[in-house]
Amino acid sequence: MSRAVYLETFGCQMNEYDSDIVRTILLQHDFEFTTHLDDADVVLMNTCAIRESAHERIYGRLAGLKRLKRERGLVVGLLGCMAQNLKDDLMEADSVIDVLVGPDGYRKLPGLLTKALEEHRSGIEVTLSEYETYADIIPERTDGVTAWVSIMRGCDNFCTFCVVPYTRGRERSQDPDSIIFEVQQLVNNGIKQVTLLGQNVNSYAVNGTDFADLIVRVADVSGIERVRFTSPHPKDFPDKLLDAIVDHPRICTHVHLPLQSGNDRMLSLMNRTYTQREFIDLASRMRDRCPHLTLTTDVIVGFCSETEEDFVDTYRVMEEVEFNAAFTFIYSERKNTIAARRYPDDVPHAVKVDRVSRLVELQNRTSLKLNRAVIGQEREVLVEGDARKSSDQWMGRTDGNTMAVFPKAGEGICPGKKATVVISDATSHTLIGENATPFR
Ligand code: SF4
Repeated sequence: MSRAVYLETFGCQMNEYDSDIVRTILLQHDFEFTTHLDDADVVLMNTCAIRESAHERIYGRLAGLKRLKRERGLVVGLLGCMAQNLKDDLMEADSVIDVLVGPDGYRKLPGLLTKALEEHRSGIEVTLSEYETYADIIPERTDGVTAWVSIMRGCDNFCTFCVVPYTRGRERSQDPDSIIFEVQQLVNNGIKQVTLLGQNVNSYAVNGTDFADLIVRVADVSGIERVRFTSPHPKDFPDKLLDAIVDHPRICTHVHLPLQSGNDRMLSLMNRTYTQREFIDLASRMRDRCPHLTLTTDVIVGFCSETEEDFVDTYRVMEEVEFNAAFTFIYSERKNTIAARRYPDDVPHAVKVDRVSRLVELQNRTSLKLNRAVIGQEREVLVEGDARKSSDQWMGRTDGNTMAVFPKAGEGICPGKKATVVISDATSHTLIGENATPFR
């Protein structure tokens, strides 16, 4: 008899992708999935260790499951980065968790869940692997227009604030043939756009195939319309990849380039291995080579010992580079990181909040300016579905990954198709279009 699993995912795209891996493995082992907690025999939470807010939500959810477990004998499993990083704290005596599995242990999940369901035995699998890439497990995805495809796992960079090298282990690249096979399967299921995922895609290497070679192979798969990738590390962005972006019509002209800080002392404390000047030069080299390129970034404020002057350097780099969008974060110490061991988290919370608000305000202004600059121009939009605010409008993204909405007029435009749209207005987050025609 199959057992019903309710699976909830927290955190980044890599976790979304891993949840598809978990789903595929369990479906092969007599489990089924439900979207109703009340019908579930097993509750799985695929967790994130990057931010404090994710931790708090997960602890809240665990507390809420105590009663259900008592009343219905529900089996509770915690997966992912938080399971890997906080295993000892999580399996304390009165823990609600039966099964704890880190990102490299998902093949063991069916056995561990069966033991918990049938023999009431708890189980832990948190061994990090040097080889596991789940290359032979092709997640089945049959809905939507876009899909993530993991090309590598783990990270060797050891940025001092980051928990990923400890939760996802050492860097491993997946065999290119298995990636191409997965992309072909996705195309067969109607997917039009894939985003290649890795913690540092430019480290991808398998038997002489580097990331630029791989992305060109993916973009050459028949039926694929667009290929994106995230994230490169600013320390090693090669001209060969820039050439591929410029030359291949199906590789999108958007790069997410995490700045993290614009101050050299902070960058050194973070172990980012580039300087402010090197980052600015890289961004202008990219824009010189590809004037339509959109650049987005991640920034952390309030990292250990950050002064007002250090922060102003970040502010100035953001003013100078003019990112199209930025994800701004307040630093919060993560257990087991180098920063947690070496540097006090000493910037007062109110100061962090003030700094992040100033960056958000700057970024909103910049995004609005750059979005308004394309009013009157045509953009090619891949339609993903109805706009969130109105079912009379389509929503999609431009090649540069900016959200666009436009009225549902014109034959032959539907999810999965590209449309040429004239941009008539813009907000800081969205382009508003009109006169859509099917893209030729
Ligand atoms: S590159 Fe740095 S921030 Fe990104 S996953 Fe690796 S250690 Fe973390």
